[in-house]
Amino acid sequence: MNSYDIIIIGGGPGGISALLWCHALGLRGLLLEQASELGGQMLQMFHPVLDYPGLLPADGRELRDHFVQHLQQLQLEIRIAAQVQALDLAAHRVCCNGEWLTARALVVATGARQRRLGIPGETEFAFHEDPHPPMPYANQPVCVVGGGDSAVQNSLLLAPVCSAVTLLHRSDHFRARAEWLRAAEATANLTLLTHTAPLELHGTNHVERVLLADTRTGARRELPAAAVFVRIGITPNTEFLQGQLALDETGYIRVDARQRTSVAGICAVGDVCRPGCLSVVTAAGQGAVAVKTLAAQLAGR
Ligand code: NDP
Repeated sequence: MNSYDIIIIGGGPGGISALLWCHALGLRGLLLEQASELGGQMLQMFHPVLDYPGLLPADGRELRDHFVQHLQQLQLEIRIAAQVQALDLAAHRVCCNGEWLTARALVVATGARQRRLGIPGETEFAFHEDPHPPMPYANQPVCVVGGGDSAVQNSLLLAPVCSAVTLLHRSDHFRARAEWLRAAEATANLTLLTHTAPLELHGTNHVERVLLADTRTGARRELPAAAVFVRIGITPNTEFLQGQLALDETGYIRVDARQRTSVAGICAVGDVCRPGCLSVVTAAGQGAVAVKTLAAQLAGR
């Protein structure tokens, strides 16, 4: 009973799509998700999802609900709160909640998480998600950290709600798209503070002050803030694969155009591979490619 054609580790859009493709191709698939519900990063999308063909969900959770309904109709095999404790990739074996499961092939779809600054006060006080209601910091000054699309987009979302928004960036080179940057520069209560790094967040029940350093001179000063959003990119969930699969220099799984990893019979999909485009639709597409690839291998084609 604990032997499958394909075990999929990770229940975001890539993993869910892979499980659907197992069903479509007549393979016995099992999806393992360590969280208490499916969805992965879809659960942290608080804005309308505009690029998923045929659906116009108000946020990622609504899109996730469509996916889950689809899985429920097909009664596919899923385990949630499923902690992968050990892996034997060469033998395609996974130890999950103390039980060894065997497969003929594996799909790794463990996604990515928001990168953290690692400064004092961050764990207690910082937000690592897009701003979303309720916003207890409305009409107060807030900070956003980062210089990419996420940081600038979040600053633009916060500016109409908060008294002042200060975007803190460690250099004066922004990765954010030019039109969002132009919009930020034109927003009266939004300040772009370059060459600036947050060192510590201070407060009682919520953050009240941020200790800042000038990244060129080291000069320090404090800035009042009722909320701090850390939006400095994402990092892949691959620590448990170290030494077992080829990763790139930043920890993403190396895959080829058919989602194959460096180990035979193991594919990887979604944000755990360096994403060319960070989106639900991309991850779902890669899930399809991976299972088609593995199905052909299992059939000896
Ligand atoms: P990015 O990787 O694009 O940018 C990260 C930013 O954070 C960079 O400015 C980087 O600075 C800075 N940074 C990284 N590490 C640190 C650190 N330790 N301390 C301080 N600053 C740091 O990440 P994003 O989350 O902004 O975007 C990720 C991807 O998602 C991008 O491809 C983006 O286009 C996409 N995206 C798309 C959106 C949309 O289309 N609606 C919305 C949001 C994101 P430096 O440049 O110095 O390394």
